[in-house]
Formats: sequence, C-alpha cells, structure tokens
Amino acid sequence: MNRYGVFGNPIEHSLSPIIHTQFAKQAGLNIQYDKILAPIDDFALSTQSFINQGAKGFNITVPFKIEAFNLATELTLNAQTAGAVNTIKIDGDKLIGENTDGIGLVNDLIKNLGINLNNKTILILGAGGATRGILLPILKQSPKRLMIANRTASKATQLAKDFEDHGKTCGFGLDKIKDTPVDVIINATSASLDGQMPTIANGVANDAICYDLMYGTQTPFMDWAKANNAKMVVDGLGMLVEQAATAFEFWTGKQPNTQEVIKNLRG
Ligand code: NDP
Repeated sequence: MNRYGVFGNPIEHSLSPIIHTQFAKQAGLNIQYDKILAPIDDFALSTQSFINQGAKGFNITVPFKIEAFNLATELTLNAQTAGAVNTIKIDGDKLIGENTDGIGLVNDLIKNLGINLNNKTILILGAGGATRGILLPILKQSPKRLMIANRTASKATQLAKDFEDHGKTCGFGLDKIKDTPVDVIINATSASLDGQMPTIANGVANDAICYDLMYGTQTPFMDWAKANNAKMVVDGLGMLVEQAATAFEFWTGKQPNTQEVIKNLRG
C-alpha cells in the first residue's frame, strides 16, 4: 500500500484525506493518506521521518509551503514561479516540488463552472501566498487585464511587476479599485477567515463572477457579492478538490473524476 499525507499546523480541519481516499477508490488503488500535525519549528524533521517510512508523496498546507519549497530538491516551473510548494513527489532521493493551487483554481473555473478567462478583466483581492500561486496559471489563460489590489498596496505593485513578463498586470491598494464592473473577482485575502470583508467600491461586482478561495462557509465576501448584483458567487471547495486532483495525478499518473467528489463533499 502506497503512503501519502498532508502536513500542516493546524491540520485537524483538512479534507484532503477524504478527497484522496475517494480518488484512490475511483482509480482502484489501495493507498493510505494521513493528516500529519508538524510542529511549527520542526517541519523538516517530521517530513524526513515520513520519507524514511517509504512514503511516495505528501501535500503541504499552511504555514509550511515556503519551507516545502526550500526542502524540494527539484521544482516544477509552477512551483518556481509561485515561490511555494504544496505537493512533493518522492522519487528515490529526489523530492520534486510542485504547486497545484493555481491549476486547481483555473480547472474549477473552466471545467466545473464553464468560465473562460480568455480576454476577461480579472481583479484579484490580496497579494499573499495564494495570489502568488494562482497568478501564472491565470495569466496562461490570456486575460485582457489582470489587476491585483491589496490592503498593503506596495505588495500588490511588487507582485504585478514580478509577473509582468507573463501578461498585462497592474497592482494597487484596495482603496483604488474603481466603481466600474469587471468580469471576474477573486477574493484571495484571508479576511474571510476573520469574518471580514475589505471595504471596496461596490460597483465593481455588478454582473461579475465572484469567487472566494475560502470554502466551508458562506463568507462576508460572498454576501457582499450577492448584495451587489454579482452574476455568480462561488466558494473555493472546487479549487480544493481540483488542486488535490492535480497532486494525485502528479503522484500516480491517474486523473480523478473531480465532479463526483465535489458533489459528495457538498452533500
Ligand atoms: P496570506 O497570509 O499569505 O495573505 C493574506 C492576504 O490577505 C494578504 O494580502 C493580506 O493583506 C490580506 N488580508 C488579510 N486580512 C485582510 C483584511 N481584513 N482586509 C483586507 N485584506 C486582508 O494568505 P494566503 O494567501 O495563503 O491565503 C489567502 C486565502 O486563500 C485563505 O483564506 C486561504 O484559506 C485561501 N486558500 C484556499 C485554497 C483552496 O484550495 N481553496 C488554497 C490556498 C489558499 P496585507 O498584505 O495587507 O496583509
């Protein structure tokens, strides 16, 4: 039986074991997938002991994605650009680091929700780790314009600059968002975790597709989007399942049926 797992702190809330167990069942594979609570100051030691037990791969969640980036002995282009790793494949002595978050988001938007990003105006709220991970896969879809707005404006301008070779990007403070509609708004701030919604111009949501990376609850961003005439309001559960599917395929070569798993999780 091949072993996999997810490292995080905290980790109790993680849905990854349920998701990967369902993927394995679909593929007819017998795997064991564990939640592993790594001490905040001992990620490397925890992963080493897992690797020594013959594990084939693992996922990494908050707050260890940067440490996983440093742990990897090889990096995919996605991981290199994101500067963070959420999936490691163990291949002999090699630890191959990948970042599947952005591919997961794009797959959910395109495959599951039927939203084409080509030639669209996209606004991303937030300029943290999640935004860095989703920028390249989104820019690969050739949007007309990609705007990054952040509470700390300098982080948004820096990120826009870092990715300007991949497409038309610009960055500014949340207060500079114009009161005119965009096609897609992605909330990649962690404000929802604190039950908050940043104060921004309401008109930007009119007829827009509004996507919150957070999942598991109706967030203040989703309430705000509905109240301001969004065309579609979505949470990040589909992204979670899609990023897991890309990791599963990276490890096993088998492509899961994600829609079945999303349906099961939504009950
Ligand atoms: P980070 O801590 O790296 O970044 C947080 C961002 O949110 C920063 O830009 C920060 O702004 C901003 N922010 C925090 N609080 C507020 C607030 N009250 N008002 C305005 N802006 C705020 O977090 P991540 O990027 O790693 O994660 C962001 C979200 O994405 C989380 O909710 C996480 O759960 C979710 N996520 C979901 C995934 C999925 O599969 N569905 C995958 C990965 C992430 P500033 O720079 O000014 O501090």
